[in-house]
Amino acid sequence: MKILSDFDGVWTDQAGEARFINESFVQEVSRDLDLPEAVARAEFEGFLRAAHEAPDQHGWWPRGFLTAFVDEDELLATGAVCRYLDDGGDAPGAARWREGIREAGHPSAHDYGSEKFGPAMRTYLQDHGHRLVDGSRELCETLRLAGVELVIVSNSPTTKLQKLFAEAGVEEGDGLRFVGDARKWWVENEEPRSEYAGRRVHLDRPYYREILTREQPDLVIGDVASLDLAMPAAMRIEGTLGASTQLVLRQSPGSARWAVEQTSLEQGERLVDRCVPSVLDLAALATGA
Ligand SMILES: [Mg+2]
Repeated sequence: MKILSDFDGVWTDQAGEARFINESFVQEVSRDLDLPEAVARAEFEGFLRAAHEAPDQHGWWPRGFLTAFVDEDELLATGAVCRYLDDGGDAPGAARWREGIREAGHPSAHDYGSEKFGPAMRTYLQDHGHRLVDGSRELCETLRLAGVELVIVSNSPTTKLQKLFAEAGVEEGDGLRFVGDARKWWVENEEPRSEYAGRRVHLDRPYYREILTREQPDLVIGDVASLDLAMPAAMRIEGTLGASTQLVLRQSPGSARWAVEQTSLEQGERLVDRCVPSVLDLAALATGA
């Protein structure tokens, strides 16, 4: 059996990092705009709710294409809030935020948010470290003993994958390989797209398609359905991946409800076959234990 696994959000838990970044942003706004923190927080949450109500406009937008939806990844929240403000959103407080951000010398909320995001993330990782979830080493050993081939395919650089696995006591080789800089997010053209739960998901992802074609996994696992699972779902339908390829969502409390609910649809209509709360569930899935 061959497993093709995403890295961030599967082998790591990003909920704490996302909470910290969002809270840091609220505190920065509170300071820069001279707003009570509770007011800034309530207004931020209002903007985020509004962004969630318009998923086709909010999420991760590399190269001008929406490659993942805002409600699929908590780390997309600040970017979505900034885009909501720049698009002229009118939830309570929005006009005041736009004016305050401009008066603080920033041409846009996007520009302001980008300046805040990186330092907040670095502070969190410095204080909390960046490491694999507990039990990862044992899981790798179980898979290895069962003869399972594990390929980690991530948008992160290969060196980061090697470093974090090594720190957990796992070395590449003997059934384990890393494919970094995978560019799953890269969308080449507007079409083709496929509709899942009313969302139009981009499927022209040439870099990810090339990796999937080459690897021919039996199981694909990721934490962001549109980014990790839509391409293999489409390839399973067109026959460029095997009909028995399993699509697994690593579910967290922040997972999008529409993605989790995919599991109740027919195989040809869904992009998630099953959800698991932890990467550690791969042991049972792969070995049938
Ligand atoms: Mg991920």
